[in-house]
Amino acid sequence: MKSVIAIDGPAGAGKSTIARILADRLGLLYLDTGAMYRAAAFQAKRKKINLNSGKDLNRMCKNLDLELKTNHDGVKVFLGNEDITSLIRSPEMDMLASRISAVQEVRDAMTALQRKIGASGGIVAEGRDMGTVVFPDAEHKLFITASLEIRAERRYRERLGRGETLSREDVKMELRKRDEQDRTRPLAPLRPADDAMIIDTTSLGVEQVIEEIVIKIGNG
Ligand code: C5P
Repeated sequence: MKSVIAIDGPAGAGKSTIARILADRLGLLYLDTGAMYRAAAFQAKRKKINLNSGKDLNRMCKNLDLELKTNHDGVKVFLGNEDITSLIRSPEMDMLASRISAVQEVRDAMTALQRKIGASGGIVAEGRDMGTVVFPDAEHKLFITASLEIRAERRYRERLGRGETLSREDVKMELRKRDEQDRTRPLAPLRPADDAMIIDTTSLGVEQVIEEIVIKIGNG
């Protein structure tokens, strides 16, 4: 079986960028599992699903006509024919994805789908529970993190670049809240797997991180 590289970490640590470049460099498929939870959150809102009903959420997740198309610029997310890429990148969807991802039935559906996609390997899977729950036997596990300050600053600039009006402090507060929620939930909490390599990107550029990883995993 081809390798599975599992990447986890808090929001804004740079893991999506790193995972995408790494997948590209190694000729592997990039799986953005955060986008899957975001798409589910988006659909739950649109379909006015009762967020307190695990059963309704599970049914919705199983019927999600979701497609992730990856290219050099990033991942495009489709529900049916509709491109929802930019619609799922809002503060509201950040929090809603985090909320529904704490529901057992949502995780069950998503975990099953992710394992199916990764069944024959050749994948860089990125999220919060890739190394701990979804792919516990992954050949390589990375936990990518950075200080709250730098993560908030990156997220702030990203949003500013999208033309949003916002304050640094609000971005930092939201990020802190979401991480806290992801870390303290009983199911698949955000944490490094015992055998994960921890990479702190606070003072490292993307290329440096990629080099470090490629050397460590012995490819390239
Ligand atoms: O990675 P991203 O910020 O897009 O993820 C959005 C939210 O989805 C996270 O805050 C987290 O609550 C949830 N998530 C998760 N498990 C994953 C990936 C994302 O619970 N594997």
